[in-house]
Amino acid sequence: MIEKPELDHIGIAVDSIDSGLAIYRSLGIEVQSVEEVADQKVRVAFLPVGDTRIELLEPTDDTSPIARHLERRGAGLHHICLRVADVRAAMAQLSEEGYRLLSEEPVQGAHDCLVCFVHPKSAGGVLIELSESIASYES
Ligand code: ZN
Repeated sequence: MIEKPELDHIGIAVDSIDSGLAIYRSLGIEVQSVEEVADQKVRVAFLPVGDTRIELLEPTDDTSPIARHLERRGAGLHHICLRVADVRAAMAQLSEEGYRLLSEEPVQGAHDCLVCFVHPKSAGGVLIELSESIASYES
């Protein structure tokens, strides 16, 4: 069992961050930051809501996993992200329990995080991102 994970954010695939932002502004939610994650070929906007955040994901390239998601399913809910203390330990534990992970090693995510994804086929149809903040290691 993973110790006290927190809901870090909810990831939503959008055709364009600007049109996504317009919707959330109408709901009283403002953007905090926008950054590009080159590895995953996405531009991401973070919108704080209470103790968690909404993450809007816009593909920067046709080969982006988000571009493929938009083609297959259109815009909408993409993943949920749980913040964990030690992403490698969480990965080792989940793969031991038979969960399918999308990578063998964690990858660089937005906001100085190391992340790993659990395949939706082994997680009840939900793509789950596990995220460990590594910001403290770089300061
Ligand atoms: Zn995410």
